[in-house]
Amino acid sequence: MALKSTICVHHGTLKDKEYGGVVSPIYPSTSYGYLDTEDRLYPRYFNIPNQEVIEKKLAKLENAEAALLLSSGMAAISTTLLTFLKKGDHAVFQKGLYGGTFNLIGKELENFGIEYTVIQSNNIENFEKAIKANTQIVYIETPSNPLLGITNIKAVANLASSKGIISIIDNTFASPVNQNPVDHGINVVIHSATKYLGGHSDICAGIVVSSHKIINQIKNLGVNFGGSLNAITCYLLERSIKTLMVRVEKQNQNTKIIAEFLEKHSLVRKVFYPGLESHEGYDIAKKQMKGFGGMLTFEVKEIDLVMFQKKFKLISSSMSLGGVDTIVCAPTKTSHRNLNKEELLNEGINEFQLRMSVGIEDVEDIILDIEQAFK
Ligand SMILES: *Cc1c(COP(=O)(O)O)cnc(C)c1O
Repeated sequence: MALKSTICVHHGTLKDKEYGGVVSPIYPSTSYGYLDTEDRLYPRYFNIPNQEVIEKKLAKLENAEAALLLSSGMAAISTTLLTFLKKGDHAVFQKGLYGGTFNLIGKELENFGIEYTVIQSNNIENFEKAIKANTQIVYIETPSNPLLGITNIKAVANLASSKGIISIIDNTFASPVNQNPVDHGINVVIHSATKYLGGHSDICAGIVVSSHKIINQIKNLGVNFGGSLNAITCYLLERSIKTLMVRVEKQNQNTKIIAEFLEKHSLVRKVFYPGLESHEGYDIAKKQMKGFGGMLTFEVKEIDLVMFQKKFKLISSSMSLGGVDTIVCAPTKTSHRNLNKEELLNEGINEFQLRMSVGIEDVEDIILDIEQAFK
């Protein structure tokens, strides 16, 4: 049971000792006996059986020792950050963070007396320059949103470990299928399970993967913050992860074909996809990713993007990502709507860009839909 598809289907499954059913039973109890056991099971302690199924699966998929399942990606990110950052500490963040993470650090860290630096370009010299005597963590996200920027994982992990700093990555866009940062020396891997792990746009959850020691530290804070997940959603997530490999591999294939189609289209100015040789981060992506993922962004020439989207018959204009349905959203109207002109320019984002989360439909149908919308 060493390979990923098998892990997705089988690893961590709870045995149904009573009836011999093949899938994990659901244990919705919030009250468990204590007389004959040392275990004090309680959902908020992150130790009920259905939570542990997901934690075992993700730890194994990411080649790590342990994991902690939380109620959202942001619960995973905030609980992890505040585990390592205390009053007087400093953190280094890469440029191009998920909007929720950007808001969290901008709005909250100062209130906790925590300093931070968001670097201006993600080359390793800039990470190094930003590290101070009180820096505790360096935090990256690759591929990043919405322009699929690539950060060199190994370089950042090596830099952090040489300075005795914890390295953290948001691995949501790649999913554990396409990228395993622990193999490149990263200490902590975070996923919004709302995206590829859930995969059907109907579950909100988050997970942190790391060593036993670090997961215990995060869990201790998590118990106080209370961001655990209920057993029924855990079961739905388990069911989703069983098909993670087949879904993401299909999404990888579809996205490459769509990226190549768009790159040749006369009304498209630029395509951002790490699997295209024209992409700035292609060489590094090729080294650190096993597949290039299901996310791409394209920039159109002067056409009205609202009219364009209204013509779609199959593709829907909606937020979020990672589901089996192909969806698009304009970053300036959604994830980055709170940025001013200057900030948008600085991020390289403009109103002619459309981000696409490619689904598992037949790629011919997705392309037909795009083609007719351009007409
Ligand atoms: C969605 C997302 C998050 C936040 O996850 P939630 O489950 O919405 O809290 C964090 N990082 C990335 C890259 C995301 O796409």
